[in-house]
Amino acid sequence: MKRVMSIATSDSGAGAGIQADLKAFLRCGVYGTTAIVAATAQNTVEVTDIHPFPPEVAVRQIETVVSDIGADAVKTGMLFNAGIISAVAGTIRRLELPNLVVDPVMVAESGAVLLEPEAVGTYREELFPLATAITPNLNEAFALIGEERDESRIEDCARALYELGPRAVIITGGHTESGADLLYDGERFTRIEGPVHAANNTHGAGCTHSSALASFLARGMDLEEAARNARRIASEAVKYGLGEIGKGAGPVHAL
Ligand code: PLP
Repeated sequence: MKRVMSIATSDSGAGAGIQADLKAFLRCGVYGTTAIVAATAQNTVEVTDIHPFPPEVAVRQIETVVSDIGADAVKTGMLFNAGIISAVAGTIRRLELPNLVVDPVMVAESGAVLLEPEAVGTYREELFPLATAITPNLNEAFALIGEERDESRIEDCARALYELGPRAVIITGGHTESGADLLYDGERFTRIEGPVHAANNTHGAGCTHSSALASFLARGMDLEEAARNARRIASEAVKYGLGEIGKGAGPVHAL
């Protein structure tokens, strides 16, 4: 069985973060491992606390898992601060880990800030150049290039992100009119269309998408095929989202 590691943060409500990643890995037929870089106290309504671990905690988890289990792909999720991003990037480079999907998590649907603002430069300089694909949503994509969100300029935004060094950029469509994801590989733009479901129970949709993308890359698909399948898995997970769990945006359900 292929092995995929999530380097990300715990969501105690288990809708997003590491917990969503493990559910997505199971759904996508790969064996999931985890390096937990921070813990949130969180439910479906709010994030009440964020407790980042020292960067060495991430490094030791990655080294220990990889030395025994290995990894066919890696996804990074919420990394919270510059010290963690830098340590994770250095370890991924040193261990030459393949098929890196970077989901640059910045702000939760609930509005909670999940990335310290000064850490944006560390993403751009240290982690993006190692990535097979980065998967910002539309808000994150424009924030990462320091511009106001403007959906009519989405292709320029993808080009600017590509210039930072990832092999491809996928701007996810959950927050756009059409719901389509936009894939740019430095040569052409491909719109990844799919059904758009009433978006009530979306907590964890982005985490599910990037985990599915890493899983399908691990399983040997090319980027476009992996992106199409990841779009499908994320959209199904929203469709079957669990509105009865908690009082806020219900968790997605990827099974
Ligand atoms: N909490 C953690 C630990 C996450 O990784 C994420 C997103 O990646 C979120 C919360 C936010 O999830 P959402 O915006 O889907 O509610």
